[in-house]
Amino acid sequence: MLFIDSEWQEPVLRKRIPIINPTTEEIIGDIPAATAEDVELAVRAARRALARNKGKDWSTASSAVRAKYMRAIAAKIKERKSQLAKLEVMDCGKPYDEATSDMDDVAGCFEYYADLAEGLDAKQKAPISFPSETFKSHVLKEPIGVVGLISPWNYPLLMATWKVAPALAAGCAAILKPSELASVTCLELADVCREVGLPAGVLNILTGLGPEAGAPLASHPHVDKITFTGSNATGHKIMASAAQLVKPVSLELGGKSPIVVFQDVDLDRAAEWTMFGCFWTNGQICSATSHLLVQESIAAEFLDRLVKWTKNIKTLILSKKYEKILKFISRAKSEGATVLCGGDQPKHLNKGYFIEPTIITNVDRSMEIWREEVFGPVLCVKTFSTEEEALELANDSQYALAAAVISNDLERCERMTRAFQAGIVWVNCSQPCFT
Ligand code: NAD
Repeated sequence: MLFIDSEWQEPVLRKRIPIINPTTEEIIGDIPAATAEDVELAVRAARRALARNKGKDWSTASSAVRAKYMRAIAAKIKERKSQLAKLEVMDCGKPYDEATSDMDDVAGCFEYYADLAEGLDAKQKAPISFPSETFKSHVLKEPIGVVGLISPWNYPLLMATWKVAPALAAGCAAILKPSELASVTCLELADVCREVGLPAGVLNILTGLGPEAGAPLASHPHVDKITFTGSNATGHKIMASAAQLVKPVSLELGGKSPIVVFQDVDLDRAAEWTMFGCFWTNGQICSATSHLLVQESIAAEFLDRLVKWTKNIKTLILSKKYEKILKFISRAKSEGATVLCGGDQPKHLNKGYFIEPTIITNVDRSMEIWREEVFGPVLCVKTFSTEEEALELANDSQYALAAAVISNDLERCERMTRAFQAGIVWVNCSQPCFT
């Protein structure tokens, strides 16, 4: 059922989407498929939540009140951690350990924004000094209104929480549209919101397909802002649709990030970070360092080690979009690239959306596999001889999300850090995770 106005509601058109367990390929249930009609109901519920009780509404309540609800949500997530992690595993295919640590992060995120919400009251009406005694001026922080939150499938509940928690902390009312590929834990979040008594309409959750449920949300005239995480192609559509109404959007998009390995490194440590940076979470992280740039003088030895270790990865890679990934690999081969290891579904398994971790060389810069995000366990390799060449290769990308440098020369690391055109830079590691 859809979660609208704190009630479970059937979608108006009664459409449903099957849930497929990627490990077994079995249909294990279904979720409702919302359409524009349901978006309309959710938007009205959210607007009512902002207008209720003549001023004593969600957005004008003390932010400490909102923080109380958020802390209650965090506590419930902790209570249900193992159940939620199991659902995440069945729905999106990530390993159980990763899913449990995601749930810790979900609870932590609600708590983090509860802290920020609690600090908001004290910052209200901060005076602005004025060159006149006659006038007084202050800053009043206000929520933007009703926000549409559209999230992807790789960290289903966590990516949704990164949007829900700040929206609630700010006093917005929200409509979440999770990915149709993994919505189950977001529906559980709705259940948690009911349990803690979150006021009606403050958070509405609509499962459904992008064009049928996400698009009408993005273009709705009474949704004041859209925040989206997903692919560049969808981000482009959302921005175009929001532009018709001059609606603000926040976009967190895809990546094709470099890891640059210089000849002065400890090869084992560099190989470990290279594998972690690309294959962690099945290679399905926006900031995965999936471009390996390795200095020519160590390339042969480094790749030997990398291939040997990659073949030893016991946890095979699971992806609901495995067909798309296999097509990427097959097109790379037909364009002349060489698959050093992996590149296929494992022969010993006859079911499941599994793909072997893959390393590809002989890659030309014009090839699709080099230029486009695969969003899977595929590492593309090129060599370089000088620092300048490495930088030029690293920055030749439309994405600019992340970059990593591995070198014992810390001055060089500093130069590279400043010269990378990327939002985040890691030095002598890639995608370190902290718990
Ligand atoms: P996607 O773009 O296919 O879908 C994302 C969401 O958009 C889904 O909820 C989908 O239903 C919805 N959607 C699809 N078409 C739509 C439309 N026309 N209008 C409105 N909504 C629509 O992305 P995905 O495959 O779910 O996720 C993978 C992508 O997300 C990768 O590119 C990855 O790099 C990116 N990502 C980025 C970050 C980040 O923080 N930068 C984090 C995670 C994932």
